[in-house]
Amino acid sequence: MHQTLLTADAWQRILAFSANKPTPCLILDLDLLREKYRELTTAFPYASVYYAVKANPDVAVLQCLNQLGANFDIASVFELDKLLALNIPAERMSYGNTIKKARDIAYAYEQGIRLFASDCESDIRKLAKFAPGSRVYVRVLTEGSDTADWPLSRKFGCQRDMAIELILLARDLGLKPWGISFHVGSQQRDISSWDAALAKVRFIFDQLAGEGVQLEMVNMGGGMPATYKSRRHDIDEYGAAISRFIEEDFGGSPPHIIIEPGRSLVAEAGVLVSEVVQISTKSQDSHDRWVYLDVGLFGGLIEAVGEAIQYPLAWEGCGETLDEVILAGPTCDSMDILYEDHRYSLPVDLEEGDRLYWLSTGAYTTSYSSVEFNGIPPLKSYILE
Ligand SMILES: *Cc1c(COP(=O)(O)O)cnc(C)c1O
Repeated sequence: MHQTLLTADAWQRILAFSANKPTPCLILDLDLLREKYRELTTAFPYASVYYAVKANPDVAVLQCLNQLGANFDIASVFELDKLLALNIPAERMSYGNTIKKARDIAYAYEQGIRLFASDCESDIRKLAKFAPGSRVYVRVLTEGSDTADWPLSRKFGCQRDMAIELILLARDLGLKPWGISFHVGSQQRDISSWDAALAKVRFIFDQLAGEGVQLEMVNMGGGMPATYKSRRHDIDEYGAAISRFIEEDFGGSPPHIIIEPGRSLVAEAGVLVSEVVQISTKSQDSHDRWVYLDVGLFGGLIEAVGEAIQYPLAWEGCGETLDEVILAGPTCDSMDILYEDHRYSLPVDLEEGDRLYWLSTGAYTTSYSSVEFNGIPPLKSYILE
């Protein structure tokens, strides 16, 4: 099928590069990544970018973004060590995970991290003790998880009033309260989610100003979309609308703005190449064609769980006649079905051994792929320079 997401040039480049690679594998195209970075920083020219490393921690991705001037949001001391090994200084990192062991805070502090996210009293107390004097921002809960394809909002963050108390506590314990963060949910389709979140942040800023604390920073997290199977607004439209919300809430003296893109930066730079292992029906008169691939939920496509993320699918050299199929992975786990309710249409003459190309798979695939389930090695990634 002719894919429409990539330019003909990029598509041919990826096809040629992957032709002799064993499947399944991810092809990560650094030109596409650079283009996405440009697009995002154009849409949010005033924001500091902290790349959410968990989306794709490939060394080549990190180095590429480092060269482009990005900062990095880390979730663990392991990501910290990985970045340090690439000579990325700790000053360019934030420790954005609100769930931290005391000894990991101490280690991060020792390595030079001075910027931490928090969302509860216990964590603020650990930070005060093991990362004294550091800058902290408190994460608030947001609504909008029903319009995000991959919600991230409920587990992290605290209610508005608690955020205010935590900032005051941080101050009293000698930390430097710097701002407020939120994450409206990954692949957030409703731009007004940022409006509601920013209004909440404005309220918190005002309340704290009344207590003598001037916050300076808003961390708007991720949530900006990648293009998957269904259409979405362009990043420009997100940028324009969100800039307007900031203007409405903060007027002429806007705070320092941070964004933490993961998906919107790396997803579209990746194409996962898979092979059809087997095609079958469950009875002679069943019309339900099951297409089993060499990649499934455990091999990198875990975000297809619940059919939440629906990747665009492309192929080469089959006939034009399509028919709906059920798509499933190769492992001996009955959960390893990719799409059954939502039916993808594939060529009726698709054969075992044919390749299927999953577009927009640069984010949350290699980092999620299992280590040895059914003996299958982790999803391999090749960098197209
Ligand atoms: C995962 C995560 C992100 C990235 O979100 P995307 O929707 O992939 O852009 C940003 N910030 C934090 C704190 C995260 O946990």
